[in-house]
Amino acid sequence: MQYTMTDLILFWHRRDLRIADNVGLAIARQRSPKVVGVFCLDPEILEGGDVAPVRMQYMIGCLQELQERYTAAGSQLLILHNRPLQALPELATALKAKAVFWNKDVEPYSRSRDREVAEALRASGIQVEAFWDQLLHAPQEIQAGSGQPYTVFTPFWRNWSNRTKATPQATLENAQGLEPNEMAIAQQSGVIPLPTAKDLGFVWTNELPLAPGTGAAEERLEAFCDRALGEYQEQRNYPANPGTSQLSAALKFGAIGVRTVWAATVAVEEQSRSDETRENIKTWRQELAWREFYQHAMYAFPDLAKGAYREPFKTFPYENNPDFFQAWCDGKTGYPIVDAAMRQMNTVGWMHNRCRMIVASFLVKDLFVNSQFGERYFTQKLIDWDLSANNGGWQWSASSGMDPKPLRIFNPASQAKKFDPEGEYIREYLPELRSLDTEMLISGVIPVMERDRCGYPAPIVNHNQQQGKFKAVYQQQKGLQAKAK
Ligand SMILES: Cc1cc2nc3c(=O)[nH]c(=O)nc-3n(C[C@H](O)[C@H](O)[C@H](O)COP(=O)(O)OP(=O)(O)OC[C@H]3O[C@@H](n4cnc5c(N)ncnc54)[C@H](O)[C@@H]3O)c2cc1C
Repeated sequence: MQYTMTDLILFWHRRDLRIADNVGLAIARQRSPKVVGVFCLDPEILEGGDVAPVRMQYMIGCLQELQERYTAAGSQLLILHNRPLQALPELATALKAKAVFWNKDVEPYSRSRDREVAEALRASGIQVEAFWDQLLHAPQEIQAGSGQPYTVFTPFWRNWSNRTKATPQATLENAQGLEPNEMAIAQQSGVIPLPTAKDLGFVWTNELPLAPGTGAAEERLEAFCDRALGEYQEQRNYPANPGTSQLSAALKFGAIGVRTVWAATVAVEEQSRSDETRENIKTWRQELAWREFYQHAMYAFPDLAKGAYREPFKTFPYENNPDFFQAWCDGKTGYPIVDAAMRQMNTVGWMHNRCRMIVASFLVKDLFVNSQFGERYFTQKLIDWDLSANNGGWQWSASSGMDPKPLRIFNPASQAKKFDPEGEYIREYLPELRSLDTEMLISGVIPVMERDRCGYPAPIVNHNQQQGKFKAVYQQQKGLQAKAK
């Protein structure tokens, strides 16, 4: 496809809210200087009841910064508030755009939406080009020998880690935006000023765990590489310490490019002569690979979004007791490490990975609640919610996912003893228990008088009993499956 210097290309941003290291945007700029960004506030997503206010606050902040960066690069970022299927072809037609470019996504909703939008644009005579950007390796690049997608992480990691990674893409610069008369046409075709999260009905008054935008994400990456990366393997497990990058929201919304993140690890590796640092870098890179593993899985098996992957869990007799579920959501189960974690998520909008595993195991294996309830609650609360990572994390914790491990059940007290040995994390998020002995906080065995004094609930279930029950029901399910074959 040939482009001339005056052809207008609209670049549709979705989960790539940056002008730096953006594959599709960099290619658009190579084709023509007249590249204008578009973001569509999609009512189907906004009104679906699953948007966390913290996430909306972060996203709007990213869009605000993105608008500023577009202006500095000589162009504009246009905002629409309508279904992309209607809004994009309308705008592109009114502006006589030559093409609309975007970066591909793995999620089922995005993929079917993109197909429809592409068809509508092409029917109006507008070109469409889409690129892989949010992954270091696209799904078709990493396949097992049989040409099938991997369903187990270790061989995926071997293949993924051995491949050469792309370097960061050129930042948009010296672009041309819309002329004033074209801007007037854009406004008649649905372009609006960027609303606030509150305008859209989402109120988040606490501080954000990560400031929005590319600048903040780059600063966070630099600080992490300077300090915590070198001790990641050990420190990542302690929720009271800032031992992880907390870049998850930036990676979810693409405030930072994944090639930029990888290049930062290469720079640290090149400067380091110690095997220990290299091991730490490798461990962090493995987390980036988990992110890609789950996205590839969602791309290959979209039904993962609907429920359990493994047979015994498709018909597992969960009890889904609403009172238990509510106590879990509110951080009132009587298990201090579980409650601290849930209250961290409810108030901060982010939860440490170790605690995500603890609370997920507890909901499914102690409370007998289907992981889909927990998955949805995380969707409504997390700043970094990502369909693939969240689904992958929940299915891993519920043992219902594709990477089968022996039935693993987290014991809250042992987890607290190992990973919050001084009770710092528990004290931070359960202020009513601050005065208690550390031993009580960790074991969760709190005398009735103390509990009453602190206004803290009794444990809603007995962990040992529930663990035995879960194992027994699991064996029964496996037996039923075997008989049915
Ligand atoms: C039940 C459950 C639900 C989860 N839901 C989400 C979610 O909605 N969104 C999300 O981004 N992560 C999710 N995770 C994975 C993980 O908890 C977070 O990515 C991590 O806590 C983010 O913190 P960080 O940025 O400091 O991570 P770091 O430890 O610094 O890791 C770097 C990056 O790697 C990726 N990553 C790390 N661990 C994982 C993982 N296990 N799976 C996939 N990607 C990973 C993230 O993008 C993260 O930012 C979930 C895990 C579990 C067990």
